[in-house]
Formats: sequence, C-alpha cells, structure tokens
Amino acid sequence: VVIIEAVNLCKSYSMGTEQFHAAKGVNLQLYEGDFTVIMGSSGSGKSTLLYLLSGLDTITSGEVYFKGQRIDQYSEKEITDFRSNKIGYVYQSINLIPDFTLLENVAFPGYVAGRGKSEINIQAMTLLQMMGIAEQADRLPSQVSGGQQQRAAIARALINSPEVIFADEPTGALSQEQGTIILDILTEMNQKSQSIVMVTHDIKAACRADRLILVKDGNIDGILELGKYSPDQ
Ligand code: ADP
Ligand code: ADP
Repeated sequence: VVIIEAVNLCKSYSMGTEQFHAAKGVNLQLYEGDFTVIMGSSGSGKSTLLYLLSGLDTITSGEVYFKGQRIDQYSEKEITDFRSNKIGYVYQSINLIPDFTLLENVAFPGYVAGRGKSEINIQAMTLLQMMGIAEQADRLPSQVSGGQQQRAAIARALINSPEVIFADEPTGALSQEQGTIILDILTEMNQKSQSIVMVTHDIKAACRADRLILVKDGNIDGILELGKYSPDQ
C-alpha cells in the first residue's frame, strides 16, 4: 500500500539572483510498513527530499500525497496538524530542548497536540522505557550520552503515534556502538509495522532497509529492493 507519493516534485532555493535546483522532478512511491533508506553523496538532495515528503518544507512545484491526500495544498492549519499527528522527525543534530528533562522533551509534542497531561506522561514514560532510558527520565540532555539523547529524540518523534518516522542521519553524530543501538530500535519498531524513512551515509545502516533509494543530483538514481532485514544477513 502506497503511503507517500511524490509526482514531478521540484524544489529550488534562491541564492541571490540564482536558483539552485535541489529536487528536479522526483517521482517516487513509498510503501506502508517499509523501512526505506535514502542514500547519496553530500549535497545530492537527500535532506531536501525528506523535508518535502514529510511536509516540513514547501515544494516549488509538483505534488505530494499522503495516503492519497494532497498535502502540498494543505492550509497552514492542516499542515501543522499533519506534522504534529501523522509524522515524527528525528535529526542528526538531535536538538532536544536543553532546559527540559528527557521526559519533558518526549512529552512536549503531546502537549502541542493538545492531549491530556496524564495520558501524555504515561506514554512518554513507556516510550523512555522502550528505549532503555527510563532511569534517565529526570535528567537534562547534557547529563546523558549522545546515544541516550538520540533515543529520547526517537521517543519524542513517537509520542503522537505517527504513521511515518523520518530520520535524517540519526546515527551520524554517534559512536559505532550507540549507532547500532539506534538502528536496532528502528528495526524493532519497523518489525512492529512502523513505516520508517531514513537518510544515511552508513552502509551498515542501509542494510536495515527493505528498499534502498539512491539519490543523485536532485533526482532518483536507482531503487534497490532488499526485503526484510534479519540479523543473520
Ligand atoms: P544532502 O542532504 O544530500 O546533503 P541537501 O538536501 O541538504 O543535500 O542539499 C541539496 C543541495 O541544496 C545542496 O547543494 C545544498 O547546498 C542546497 N540547499 C539545501 N538547503 C538549502 C537552502 N535552505 N538554501 C539554499 N540551498 C540549499
Ligand atoms: P545534511 O547533514 O543532510 O548534509 P546540511 O548540513 O546540508 O544537511 O543542511 C542542514 C540544514 O541547512 C538544512 O535545513 C538545509 O536546508 C540547510 N542548508 C543546507 N545547505 C544550505 C545552503 N547552501 N544555504 C542555506 N541553507 C542550507
């Protein structure tokens, strides 16, 4: 089942009087339940594509559909609701709020979505537990490791039960060991039917993909069907 579809998707950035074309007519379908991995050299347009497919940035032309609904024509309110309820986003830079504890960081998007306090706190705690960082719930981001911060960021992305998790180089700032923990968490979530779209430079991370999408110079350069990851591979 197609969950996200891009049709002739273009994105241009203006740089002074010049236009830079970071997406040049991308046609792409992403499937529900897939662990999709996007690879390509630096500057090829991977982050741009992730921003456009997730509705985090406006497109220049073309169409983006989420479950058959055209999200690029959503009103300001519709797109805000979409971002807060349908997708979760994990960044390489982690960007937790430094003055909030891990629990408060994870719970925060729940408050923004207008949900009840006790329900959010219980769910936030459950997610921290799932990520193996329940003991760090009351610590500030600066008081835990990078890997633990990234696990909290994944928990935060999950708080409103999104249909798709987008992750832009989630292991890029982490040690090999912490990176593997993050990949194991994402793989386990995917095995429980969570759709994931991840940008990475790391071959080990790419091995977790059902489908590998290669991006080059603002367009799709190839798609590899890999099937479900198993640890024996
Ligand atoms: P990747 O994630 O593959 O490294 P990006 O999508 O970040 O690539 O960027 C693709 C190209 O678009 C790069 O050349 C980058 O410099 C340019 N670009 C990205 N974002 C902007 C922006 N906000 N303004 C101008 N140029 C941008
Ligand atoms: P990545 O780690 O995926 O390569 P970048 O470091 O290229 O990401 O980009 C990080 C952020 O900076 C993104 O929000 C992107 O849109 C923005 N950006 C990237 N290149 C440019 C640019 N040339 N001008 C302005 N913003 C940019």
